[in-house]
Amino acid sequence: MFKGILIEKDGSGYRASVNDLEDAQLPEGNVTVRVSHSTLNYKDGLAITGKAPVVRKFPMVPGIDLAGVVEESTHPDYKTGDSVVLNGWGVGEVHWGGLAQKARLNGDWLVPLPSAFTPGQAMAIGTAGYTAMLCVMALERHGVRPEDGEILVTGAAGGVGSVAVAVLAKLGFTVVAATGRPQDADYLKALGATEIVDRAQFSSPGKPLGKERWAGAVDVAGSHMLANVCATTKYRGVVTACGLAAGMDLPLTVAPFILRGVTLAGVDSVMCPRSDRLVAWQRLARDLDVARLGQISREVGLADAIALADSILKGEVRGRVVVDVNR
Ligand code: NDP
Repeated sequence: MFKGILIEKDGSGYRASVNDLEDAQLPEGNVTVRVSHSTLNYKDGLAITGKAPVVRKFPMVPGIDLAGVVEESTHPDYKTGDSVVLNGWGVGEVHWGGLAQKARLNGDWLVPLPSAFTPGQAMAIGTAGYTAMLCVMALERHGVRPEDGEILVTGAAGGVGSVAVAVLAKLGFTVVAATGRPQDADYLKALGATEIVDRAQFSSPGKPLGKERWAGAVDVAGSHMLANVCATTKYRGVVTACGLAAGMDLPLTVAPFILRGVTLAGVDSVMCPRSDRLVAWQRLARDLDVARLGQISREVGLADAIALADSILKGEVRGRVVVDVNR
């Protein structure tokens, strides 16, 4: 028996609770992992509350991230005792996920735990942090350099935003943090932001083009925020879009693209190829101060993750939540 969060949907409704589960209930897979830590991401909040149809099979163990030690494996790359990390691939959506003490998975989805991190630290990064690194890599791939000017990070006090601010600052970029939480200005400055701006200035319908300011941007919000960020991006600047915290819509004109040559680069972490994941984790080991992870994250137990699911959707969670599944 092992403990895990189980989401059930039936005639009496949609509910998530901590349950005793049996190995025989685990899905098919060639690697069984003794999970030590998972996380609470925005998507896990959607899954646990049922506020969006993230879970597509029931019953489901949520948790798009996990870190732990291989207990059994028939996969050629993994053996008992190996430390591993998993992010995405539909885990916690269509395949039982990380918010449990055990998981059985396809070994192709795993990456070795980077030696720079403990399992808890890897989960302080989690999908949010690995996505932040994918955004940084996309900015670099499109040629954005520190000397080009300011980089705007939206949703800066959230999970993706906090890691993006810390990594970009360490790489020498001038980072401007857009947040709805002015009370977190000191936190964002400690992570390396040079200026804090109120996200309200981006949240209403704006003009097709505004004064050019950003050499690049990491946007987690979508909707008017992303539209206004594109409209105020400098000539040949690059905007990475990875989230929908403000909405799924994008009320935008083509003006930034055809008049200023702005690039809008989409970032997906779920199906991202393994080669890019390995690079992202290597880059995190190099370009993120481990000391920052203590500032960014806090640790909770399985039951607390259920309680916090609604808060993360309301934008009330600062930084990252690590879930110690044995607590
Ligand atoms: P968090 O909840 O930790 O952070 C989101 C932040 O967005 C909030 O903390 C808040 O920051 C800001 N925010 C909330 N509501 C609004 C709003 N109405 N308008 C503008 N900003 C708002 O979530 P994550 O950082 O984990 O994820 C952020 C987004 O990225 C989510 O939409 C998530 O689904 C997406 N995502 C996508 C991935 C991909 O593969 N493409 C992977 C990971 C995440 P503040 O208070 O500072 O303004």
